[in-house]
Amino acid sequence: MAKILCVLYDDPVDGYPASYARDGLPVLDRYPGGQSLPTPEAIDFTPGHLLGSVSGELGLRRFLEERGHTLVVTSDKDGDGSAFDRELADADVVISQPFWPAYLTAERIARAPQLKLAITAGIGSDHVDLDAAIAHGVTVAEVTYCNSISVAEHVVMMILSLVRDYLPAHQWVLDGGWNIADSVRRSYDLEGMHVGTVAAGRIGLAVLRRLKPFDVHLHYTDRHRLPAEVEQELGLTFHPTAADMAPHCDVVTINAPLHPETENLFDDELIATMKRGAYLINTARARIADRDAVVRALESGQLAGYAGDVWFPQPAPADHPWRTMPHHGMTPHISGSSLSAQARYAAGTREILEAWLAGKPIRDEYLIVHDKALAGTGARSYSTRS
Ligand code: NDP
Repeated sequence: MAKILCVLYDDPVDGYPASYARDGLPVLDRYPGGQSLPTPEAIDFTPGHLLGSVSGELGLRRFLEERGHTLVVTSDKDGDGSAFDRELADADVVISQPFWPAYLTAERIARAPQLKLAITAGIGSDHVDLDAAIAHGVTVAEVTYCNSISVAEHVVMMILSLVRDYLPAHQWVLDGGWNIADSVRRSYDLEGMHVGTVAAGRIGLAVLRRLKPFDVHLHYTDRHRLPAEVEQELGLTFHPTAADMAPHCDVVTINAPLHPETENLFDDELIATMKRGAYLINTARARIADRDAVVRALESGQLAGYAGDVWFPQPAPADHPWRTMPHHGMTPHISGSSLSAQARYAAGTREILEAWLAGKPIRDEYLIVHDKALAGTGARSYSTRS
């Protein structure tokens, strides 16, 4: 029987919800491009309910306990003596979400001799030391596509919020003001701007598709070029590297995984090549941008705005400089954890567990590491240090 250790974010401060704003979720047939939605044999939760917090338990308890497995759920994940550290010692499976990542460092993996499977209930497995997972034969899987569109919607929202300077205008309303001039002195139209994405995978391409009707000039860079018909349909300009693309753009959105190739990509040097007053949106991973270089660029005016929902570490400390830097539109890490996304990644997590517990193969597109090597999506989109 397996022990499954699940690290989830805390319940709302006023308690687990007794009711919801809407009665249900739209039913989707499949993801754009044709990949099927998660296909567990059954689910024991109500789609649209809060599943990603401790009391939601990703809807897994009944399924696991009926089969004799042990499920431990905690939000206590950091520091020596955390519940995560204590429970890890004999865990077979760790489930964690990027929003509240249980950092599976090389040291922790070394202290978890039973660990065979690390599931990301979401997308982005950089909180797992992939080299260590490979060395110890730990399979790493994530629910590919589950929240890609959720993030793409958040990116579009953040681009418009920054360019139009929405948040300060809203604040004037909350403060009882009617300050038109204050509200518009940094407000522009997106129309006609050059917008580029670093990576045109599931999220990046969805962002490009959603921005096309705004009559902007679209740019992208990626390790693999998109099909010519997609480039033509969206009027895309391809650039071989982020450094080639950045100087051409008024808005850059980062949609690549964090791995050795992308770590610290947006440093002082690269940001200095961008147009003065460009906007940078990063919902991918915080460490793709140099934390202090972003602050410096906002303070000097080199960047007109920065927004995103990814921080390092998570949760971000109260004195993290991105909380107080000028002209930012940061949220906590929420873009991929809408109630809609939660239903998909809870179902996908169950699908992965069903397969693994039955000794069946996990869908190739969910795999990041398997059989001591990058595999599936991991082999295509990630790199290792060695
Ligand atoms: P995909 O795997 O579909 O796309 C990732 C893309 O990044 C691929 O096209 C890949 O290229 C490309 N890429 C990798 N390295 C580079 C590089 N050095 N330069 C340019 N492109 C590169 O993933 P998603 O689009 O679904 O997600 C992307 C990332 O977004 C995730 O890894 C995660 O970090 C983040 N994310 C954030 C969420 C949030 O809540 N904020 C939620 C979900 C994801 P190729 O495959 O062509 O080699």
